[in-house]
Amino acid sequence: MAAKILEREVIVVDAVRETKDSTTLYLSEGDNQPEYKAGQFLTVDPHQFPALERWCLYLEKEKGRKEPVRAYSLASAPHEEYVSFTVKEDPYYPDEDPYPPLLSPILTFRTPVGTELTIKGYTGSYTMNDELESNAETILHGCAGSGIVPNFAIIKDELHNGSTKKHILIFTNKTWNDIIYRDALRALESKYPDKLTIIHMITREKKPELESMGARWGRPTIELLREVIKDPSTTAAFICGPGISSYEKKEAKKKGLELVPRFLETMLQFVEEIGIPKEMIKKETW
Ligand SMILES: Cc1cc2nc3c(=O)[nH]c(=O)nc-3n(C[C@H](O)[C@H](O)[C@H](O)COP(=O)(O)OP(=O)(O)OC[C@H]3O[C@@H](n4cnc5c(N)ncnc54)[C@H](O)[C@@H]3O)c2cc1C
Repeated sequence: MAAKILEREVIVVDAVRETKDSTTLYLSEGDNQPEYKAGQFLTVDPHQFPALERWCLYLEKEKGRKEPVRAYSLASAPHEEYVSFTVKEDPYYPDEDPYPPLLSPILTFRTPVGTELTIKGYTGSYTMNDELESNAETILHGCAGSGIVPNFAIIKDELHNGSTKKHILIFTNKTWNDIIYRDALRALESKYPDKLTIIHMITREKKPELESMGARWGRPTIELLREVIKDPSTTAAFICGPGISSYEKKEAKKKGLELVPRFLETMLQFVEEIGIPKEMIKKETW
């Protein structure tokens, strides 16, 4: 099914706070039947928000270019009633970031039920394809923070469609309460114990009770991947999380600095090193 990238008029029919800084927006397209694949994204133009009009003008003057649309992965799977996406407010560290984030605070905290939005979608190739469907027996999902969003959709889609593949999710967050979809993921794991295994990695909160809830302390390691992936040759990997941004790359080049790998670069190195074939690795970052 080829998804059409169309401008779509939608209405927010529900807004659910997932964590202290993330919200899922559920969209209705009225009578239009949205067509998309799990893992794809939509885009939102910040210029449509009256509250951002002046910010757009100010930032455009400062940056010397038009503010682009922002992309958001779909949190929903095609069988679900509403298209949804989850936005995590981007933090702002004045000493490190040249500008405060524009759109994510509005979508996270100030987009109530009834808001009319113009979005564009649906597109993106961070999806299952025929090759992965036929060659992969195991799917490794390596996610951090809001990087869970497209993988959540893929996992729901696969489990709903009766796929025989085993899904292993290694999900990294700073604290237990930062875990987006924590309860929904637990419910899926309970419903499909033979098909879904979840390992939560917690990097900034060391509490013994978290271990009994299936969490491990620290970042994912190559040893952990070797422990959970029995046959890399029949494993596909979907890796989604923070990576080195294009701004950081440009800055580092200008200053001749070496960049420290972030979640995405580290995980990609691990999955290649344990022997997952390159053509079975998919990545998404923001
Ligand atoms: C395919 C894809 C899927 C995505 N899915 C999701 C998702 O599911 N959930 C989610 O929360 N996010 C997702 N994102 C990220 C999202 O698109 C936005 O980037 C995010 O919400 C931040 O947007 P913002 O307008 O709040 O911040 P921005 O205004 O874009 O700012 C973000 C950061 O970039 C810096 N910056 C901005 N402009 C410049 C510049 N000119 N020079 C240097 N630095 C600059 C700012 O200082 C700030 O630190 C996705 C991105 C992509 C590409």
